[in-house]
Amino acid sequence: MRTRITSPLAETAAGSIAGEVLRACVHCGMCNATCPTYHLTGDELDGPRGRIYLIKQALEGEPVGRMTQTHLDRCLSCRACETTCPSGVQYHRLLDVGRDVVAEQTPRPWRERALRAAIRWLCIQPWRLGALIAAGRPVRALLPSALQGKLPKPNPIGPSPAGGHERRMTMLRGCVQSATAPHFNAATRRVFGHAGVDLGETPEVGCCGALSVHLDAREEGQALARRNIDAWIRQLDGGAEAIVVNASGCAAFIRDYPDLLADDPDYAARARRVVDRLRDPVEVLIQTPPRATRAPAKARIAVHQSCTLRNGPGLGEAPARLLASLGYDPQPVADPCPSLDRGGGRRGRLKHSHRSQAPPGASSNQPSSPPTSPMGIPAGGSAALPPSRATRAASSSRDGFSITRAR
Ligand code: SF4
Ligand code: SF4
Repeated sequence: MRTRITSPLAETAAGSIAGEVLRACVHCGMCNATCPTYHLTGDELDGPRGRIYLIKQALEGEPVGRMTQTHLDRCLSCRACETTCPSGVQYHRLLDVGRDVVAEQTPRPWRERALRAAIRWLCIQPWRLGALIAAGRPVRALLPSALQGKLPKPNPIGPSPAGGHERRMTMLRGCVQSATAPHFNAATRRVFGHAGVDLGETPEVGCCGALSVHLDAREEGQALARRNIDAWIRQLDGGAEAIVVNASGCAAFIRDYPDLLADDPDYAARARRVVDRLRDPVEVLIQTPPRATRAPAKARIAVHQSCTLRNGPGLGEAPARLLASLGYDPQPVADPCPSLDRGGGRRGRLKHSHRSQAPPGASSNQPSSPPTSPMGIPAGGSAALPPSRATRAASSSRDGFSITRAR
């Protein structure tokens, strides 16, 4: 697709990333087949092709408004669309640029800004969220029912592994996960111990920056990314073999650090070094399986493929493969996308049982353990397109596609 990105954006690294992605798109629309939000609303503007066109208009200087912002907000950043694009369009890289440009031109209402600022303040420092959770537990019964369900139950962290192994890696402590589910990282440390790897945390490293960037605070996110990169480089220089990230959504964001810092060549190079050593736990454990000390007591385990593990690094099947190699019976689950059921994207009112996206063979079997993955949607596939209720691919253009309503 031809594009003329306006100055001054055209002269920046973000402008060049956006131009590269836009030129690769041929507007065929095949990506819509795997887009959950397009499936949900049937609206072209809630699909990747429509969003690409909206972003193109914004980058070319067309006026944009709340309507454009809403359609971009509804995107889950799940990258399912990239798995069916025949041209290899890296949609998520364009989306990040587009969201920033639209946010600059379209100030949000004060309530939305206040809510976003409050979420950032609360979440990027885990002790704040942890303190709020601790304060809420004793009065759980007095809270509104919607909040009661969200309050995580305390989970024992369990013993720490003995350590003393030759191999050493460092793990992202993170922000929300470390406050709501600290037992995840603790369990990972024990499993790595059984695989002969010491897995520590780097105290200076906290939130990956995704929350800030996705809530209109790009500079704050860049600062967090620089802090993390500096700390991780020190770890790598000190002999750490890899940087392990348990939350696949955070890992997906860290993989894009080079784009986030593209205007800063020194940090972009350091970011590439970090990305080169970034590992999901399953990548390490498949190569070095932990030594089992007893046979699995509960053989059947439900496995939920998170979109961020499947669509970016292509590791969707890896957790099930690893569990099978350890003697378990992994069962794919056909649960709806948790993100969609929590309201959809960053500001949507999408609520949907997303079973049409389940992988072949997915079942609602009763497993003996709960799903393994905390986020994401089941694998996309060849789910039939719904009737397009509000397709806005109305007028013709030299691209064979254009959108008549963009504001
Ligand atoms: S992103 Fe890919 S699949 Fe979607 S319209 Fe563009 S070229 Fe086609
Ligand atoms: S990232 Fe996900 S929600 Fe967004 S356009 Fe692509 S498939 Fe749709």
